[in-house]
Amino acid sequence: MDRENERIAHEGRKFNETERITQQFLALAALDSPSFSERATADWLKRELQELGFAVTEDDAGSRLHGNAGNIYGFLKGTAEGEPVLLSAHMDTVLPAAGKVPVFYPDGKITSRKDTVLGADDICGIVEILAGIRFVLENQIPHRDIEVLFPVAEEVYIKGTNVFDFQKIKSKYAYVLDLGGPVGRAALQAPSIISFQLTVYGRAAHAGFEPENGIHAISLMSRGISALCQGHLDADTTLNIGTILGGTGTNVVPEQCICRGEVRSYIHEKAQKALDNMKKSMEKSLEGTGAWLEVQTEVHMKAYKIEETEAVTANFQRACRKIGLNPELTATFGGSDNNNFVKNGIRGIVLSCGMYQVHSVEEYTTIEDLRLGSALVAELVR
Ligand SMILES: [Zn+2]
Repeated sequence: MDRENERIAHEGRKFNETERITQQFLALAALDSPSFSERATADWLKRELQELGFAVTEDDAGSRLHGNAGNIYGFLKGTAEGEPVLLSAHMDTVLPAAGKVPVFYPDGKITSRKDTVLGADDICGIVEILAGIRFVLENQIPHRDIEVLFPVAEEVYIKGTNVFDFQKIKSKYAYVLDLGGPVGRAALQAPSIISFQLTVYGRAAHAGFEPENGIHAISLMSRGISALCQGHLDADTTLNIGTILGGTGTNVVPEQCICRGEVRSYIHEKAQKALDNMKKSMEKSLEGTGAWLEVQTEVHMKAYKIEETEAVTANFQRACRKIGLNPELTATFGGSDNNNFVKNGIRGIVLSCGMYQVHSVEEYTTIEDLRLGSALVAELVR
């Protein structure tokens, strides 16, 4: 290691706010914050941000989405030249999340009591953003204009940022702390996600007296599904039928059958094409049966790709090296609020914030991950 690198590694190690990070994680985990019920977390965040000197606003996402809290936005004037930067982490958690109790282990691991999720997704992101900014302010490190956005309802197809007014945002680039895995990883690419509902309409008839007069919707649906390609359609695209529902009684030829599923693809047009092909295939299998098909689709997220050469990526790589981490650039096949950021002209990337096995009761993080994530934030806003 040359002298410059040694100095840099030393600076990274200096960032040690373990005590406060632990306390903030505890405070946030103690608040129930499922999608559409983020009120307690929103109030807590407003207080924290105001204490740090941010101008804070809450939008009307709560009333528009029938939840109890809106997206929290904060702005802090910079003390140095440089492009403004936006940092983001969502306030809601998946279920089961009522009465989360973090368990701290001597080796620094934090888990739930295994009866709920831990909420590390996305408490890690929130804690790291706040701790990183606090470190910069307390040490009077010159920083850019900082914008923060803590959205509601991310876990339900990014509904919170769907209704956010992006005119408010000054930053051209953003970091969304919402990716699993160790700190130092960034996803530059994410897929389109489109959900669909297929309904086969047949004809009801008494199953004993006159079954010949019925058109069996369940049977026709299953025939149609059997003929479909599912799973990976190509390297960029997947298709999945996730639920099926139909019939009204054991003595009735079922009149209706409904399937729900989703398509994902790194290329938006490929996702659309997969839906078209599915519709054609289903229609073909219904030909001559008297049944008919209805297809409804909803685009939840649009695919994007940020280049390695863009400023947002370069700044991330610089910040990682400054704290002694080797940056890793990757892609995710999951969506995040960043899909909406990019859709609205903000070049954002999604950063790992040290959460693992998310969306399960095995979810965990570590104090060291939280510390590193905070150090990374402190570098990103310099
Ligand atoms: Zn998340």
